[in-house]
Amino acid sequence: MSLKEQIAEARLHGVAIPHFNISELGTLRAIVVDVVREMNRPVIIGVSEGEREYIGVHQAAALIKSYRAEGLPIYLNADHTHSLENVRAAAEAGFDAILFDGGKLAWEDNIKMTQEAVKIVRGIDQTILVEAEIGYIGSGSEVRDVLPEDVVIDANSLTTPEQATEFIQKTGIDMLAPAVGNVHGMLSSGPDPRLDIPRIHDIAAAAGIPLVLHGGSGNLDEDFVAAIRAGIAIIHISTELRAAWRKGMEQGLKDNPREVAPYKLMAEAEKGVAAVVRRRMELFAGKNPR
Ligand SMILES: [Zn+2]
Repeated sequence: MSLKEQIAEARLHGVAIPHFNISELGTLRAIVVDVVREMNRPVIIGVSEGEREYIGVHQAAALIKSYRAEGLPIYLNADHTHSLENVRAAAEAGFDAILFDGGKLAWEDNIKMTQEAVKIVRGIDQTILVEAEIGYIGSGSEVRDVLPEDVVIDANSLTTPEQATEFIQKTGIDMLAPAVGNVHGMLSSGPDPRLDIPRIHDIAAAAGIPLVLHGGSGNLDEDFVAAIRAGIAIIHISTELRAAWRKGMEQGLKDNPREVAPYKLMAEAEKGVAAVVRRRMELFAGKNPR
């Protein structure tokens, strides 16, 4: 099945597809080897521009293709792509989806740049899904003590159904990432601010294309369930994986003071990441939170 078909299937069943970011092999192994092979449910692997630079654009594509060749429902997204040059590179490398992120640009500039991104991708491969972002929800997958200063969450700064409709009509994108109370990164002190569920519902009804929720780390389980019901098709989780990875790494190093084999030291990190992945996949698939 293509990613487009998987998304349609997910919406039909009232579930969402998780999007997990990776920047090294351990996290990918935790997702695929520990969870996806067992659950056999679709996942999207995301690599931001920084993560792509580290792994390599073609190397990331090759890794995902190698798992797909086993029949696993794994897809690759070029997360938060800010330049048209990087849009082209990801499309040529064979990514399944590309997010052109003009969320911080002025409205007209975001439309213009997104139109360009869509044109480039369609010219390379018509089946690649193009996602765009309207409204700014902060950047960086970090654990923070306070919300980033440039992120405002109030009724006036959230995406409106009218904006969504205009943007989709003018750009021809396949998926939309709105600002609905979500924030990139997560708060150290407890849950992130609540999501605006009625707003998600209104945007979904107006948009008519799949909606993507970014910055899922730190949100409450009940908000995820309500957001999926209101029309969210894909949910991004990154910071939560990074935090679990670090915690596991520290434990692995502490427990094995004389070990020098990286793959043995990584085992705890992978275990921690896999636990988060499993919990999120089960929740997004409509199973009861543990
Ligand atoms: Zn994001």
